[in-house]
Amino acid sequence: MKGLKTFNRGGVHPPGKKYLSENKPIKNAVISDLSVIAMSQHLGSPAESIVNPGDIVREGMLIGKSTGFISGNIHSPVPGTVKEISDIYLPNGMTSKAVVIEMEGEFDRLGKESIETNWEHLSGKELIEIINSNGIVGLGGATFPANVKFTLPKGKKAEYLVINGVECEPYLTADHRLMLEKADQIIEGIKIIASIIKPEKLVIGIEINKENAIESLKEAALRADLPLDVVSLKVKYPQGDEKQLLKAVTGKEVPSGALPMEIGCVVSNVGTVNAIYEAVVLGKPLIERVITVSGGAIKNPQNLKARIGTPIRSLIEECGGFTEEPVKVVVGGPMMGFTIYDLDTPVTKGTSGILALTSREVRGAAQTACISCGRCIAACPMGLNPTTLFKYIDHTEYDSAENIGLMDCKECGSCGYVCLARIPLIQGMRLGKRMLRTKKVKA
Ligand code: SF4
Ligand code: SF4
Repeated sequence: MKGLKTFNRGGVHPPGKKYLSENKPIKNAVISDLSVIAMSQHLGSPAESIVNPGDIVREGMLIGKSTGFISGNIHSPVPGTVKEISDIYLPNGMTSKAVVIEMEGEFDRLGKESIETNWEHLSGKELIEIINSNGIVGLGGATFPANVKFTLPKGKKAEYLVINGVECEPYLTADHRLMLEKADQIIEGIKIIASIIKPEKLVIGIEINKENAIESLKEAALRADLPLDVVSLKVKYPQGDEKQLLKAVTGKEVPSGALPMEIGCVVSNVGTVNAIYEAVVLGKPLIERVITVSGGAIKNPQNLKARIGTPIRSLIEECGGFTEEPVKVVVGGPMMGFTIYDLDTPVTKGTSGILALTSREVRGAAQTACISCGRCIAACPMGLNPTTLFKYIDHTEYDSAENIGLMDCKECGSCGYVCLARIPLIQGMRLGKRMLRTKKVKA
C-alpha cells in the first residue's frame, strides 16, 4: 500500500497465518494444579528464590527477589504450597532454578473486583518503584526489566515514547487482541509511562494488517484526549524489532551497539504497557500474560491468558490438542522462537506464542553448500553479511565474526528464511554470540 511507513533496509514477507487466531477473543486459561515458576525469565541476573519447600504462598506473593539493577521480581501465580525448588530447562536451552507450587487455598485476586488506584499524584520515582516491585518486564520478547528502561540516564531527555504494536511474527495475535480488547487500558498505561519519562512526542506503530487495532487505538486516544500519533505501517518482517520500528516511525537510526535512548527514544510493547497499567492502577504483579496458541497441528487455535508457570501441554490440551503429530513445537514466533522437546516446559513472562507446526508449515529440505546467492545479505535488516558471519562461526573464528558486526545481529531469522541452501544461519548467529559473551565473562 502506498504512503505507508516502514524501515529501509532488508526485511522479508513470510506468510502471516494470523487468520488462524486473530478473531478469537482472549480467554482465561484453566489454571494448572502444578505451576513451575522459573527464576530466570527476564534479561539480566536471575531472581533469587525466597521460599522453601513446605512454605505456603498466596496468589501474587513475592517468591523470587531481583538480584541486581538488571533483574526482575517474580511472584506466585497461584495460592498453594511450595513442593520443591528444582532445576529446569528453558525454551532457549538455558537452565534455571524454578519454584514448583501445588495449587491449594483461596485466590486473593481471581474472581474478585479490582480496586482502581489514582496514580496521577505519584512521582516518576514512585511509579518506577511500583513497576519494579511488580516484576514488569518487556513482554514483546526481550523481557528487559521495564523499570530500568524508564530510568533515563542523567542528563538525557526522551524525545519520543514509541509504543510497539507491530507484532510482526507470523501466527502471533496476542498483541492484536489486546489492542482491540484493552485499548483504554493501553492508553492509560501510555499516560503512566509518559508521566515518568516526559517525552515530547507519543507514537504507536501498528502494521496495516491490523486495521481494526489502528482504529481501536485512535478512538481510545481520542476518548482520553491523549495526543498519540497512531502510525500505520507497511507489513514487513522484522518491523517489531525496536531498531526497525524506530527507523520506520521516526526515521532515526540507533547506532551500532547503542540503546534507543542514545537517539532520545524509549520503546515499549503494547503488552508491557497493559501490564504497567495493571500494576499501577490495579496493584497487580505480572503473574499472567496473553499467549497465542496456534499452528496447523492445533485443533482450535486461541489467544489464552495464562498464568506464568503453566505447563505448555495444558494450554495445548485446552485448544483441543493436536490434529496430527506436529513436526515441531515452537515457543514464540516461527521466525525467532525456540523449538521445544518437552511439553511440560512452563510458560514464562517471555512466552508470546506456542506453535505446533505441521510438515506443510516447516520447510524440511536438507542443508546444502552455500551457493553465494546473496539473498541473506539482501534480507538482513542490520546490513550484515550472514553468509560470511556463519563461515567464521563455523570455523570458531568468533573474533573475526565480531569484527564484522556479529553482536549487531538481532537474531531475526530473515537470513535463514530466504536461504536456498537451508543453512541454519540464525542458530549459527546465536551460537557465535553466546561464545563471544562466554569468552568476555571468562576474560
Ligand atoms: S538473524 Fe542476524 S544476520 Fe540474520 S538477518 Fe537477522 S539480523 Fe541479519
Ligand atoms: S542465502 Fe544461503 S546460499 Fe545464499 S549466500 Fe546466503 S548462506 Fe549462501
